[in-house]
Amino acid sequence: MIELASRPLAAIVAAIGAPGDGDEEGDALDELALLLSNLDIRVTGRVVQKRRTPDPASFLGKGKTVEIKEFANATGANLLVVDDALSPTQRSNLKKLTGLEVWDRAFTIMMIFERRANTSEAKLQVELARLRYEIPSLKGLGRQMSRLGGGIGTRGPGETEFERHRRKLERRVIFIEKNLRSVRKRRGEYRARRAREGARVVSLVGYTNSGKSTLLRSLSKDMDILAADKLFSTLDTVTRKIRLPRGGSFMLSDTVGFIRKLPPELVAAFRATLEEVTNADLLLLVVDASAPEPLANLEVVEETLSQVGAKDIPRIVVLNKIDRVREEAVFIAAGIASRGDDVARISALRREGLSELLELIDKKLCEIT
Ligand code: GDP
Ligand code: MG
Repeated sequence: MIELASRPLAAIVAAIGAPGDGDEEGDALDELALLLSNLDIRVTGRVVQKRRTPDPASFLGKGKTVEIKEFANATGANLLVVDDALSPTQRSNLKKLTGLEVWDRAFTIMMIFERRANTSEAKLQVELARLRYEIPSLKGLGRQMSRLGGGIGTRGPGETEFERHRRKLERRVIFIEKNLRSVRKRRGEYRARRAREGARVVSLVGYTNSGKSTLLRSLSKDMDILAADKLFSTLDTVTRKIRLPRGGSFMLSDTVGFIRKLPPELVAAFRATLEEVTNADLLLLVVDASAPEPLANLEVVEETLSQVGAKDIPRIVVLNKIDRVREEAVFIAAGIASRGDDVARISALRREGLSELLELIDKKLCEIT
């Protein structure tokens, strides 16, 4: 596992974008800066390189890396973060060229998950994701070491060392996978029991920070539920029973939020958690109406739902935080409704629109069962 020599404190963020494009990279870098601030890392500079495809060797291209190195020296940055996935080779080349610690977006998200993991299950899931992420780069290193190790037919001294280390990590992967399989089995049994008892399950899904936990708090009136202006503050599933105004009730689950380019290693590792979503009778897709691109965020949520096999579950789009953008929210809601989705406009924080939402949930649940 990569240990950081010194904790990075200041970063330069970088993205590539097609020439002549709009400022999508700008928004992406804003989000990357927000991700980093969740790790207490300051951003001292941003770099957008206009090129159609990444450089296979160093992602950004040599000229840009020289610039970044000088920029880093001038601003005291000790980390370069690229808003994309880097291959092990690109990562190690960028390190050499800039003299900086180098992360990609996936690694950054993983570091936040690592920081937020509280329960043993979440910790194991994060560790599994990180192992799966790190092992391929160890393979690359192993090959490099064996090349350094000497002529044809000789095994470099580095190779056995790396091989041993890699095998150790692979054994750990198998151990964690076995552990998580039993978690999934237990969860499955629990869900089956709930289904036999006739409890209907509604799951909150949405972009990170959209207000899922706040909504669960407001509907359940359980103030112990953690809602925070921190990304990925909820990594475990929290479920509460909610009563419907006209009688009856349902179980409402809150879980990990989604984000653009959620690393596939994390999606795979958090399968047990995400499976709660695939077994829901109804999904509430929570969208922050005050985000820069609410509809783009909704798209990300929809993509992630397809990835985990939950795209055909009945749903309600819940447009949240309307207290911040009252007028725009009306237009956004109309746009979403025109695609045939049921939409509720609410403020989870100020408890506005909640009874209408509960009515809509009641109606949908009646249609389903
Ligand atoms: P989650 O990541 O989706 O669970 O989001 P949280 O429920 O933790 O909320 C993220 C942030 O948004 C917190 O600071 C909340 O107080 C804030 N928030 C949630 N709902 C609303 C709302 O309706 N209006 C406003 N203004 N802020 C909200
Ligand atoms: Mg939350």
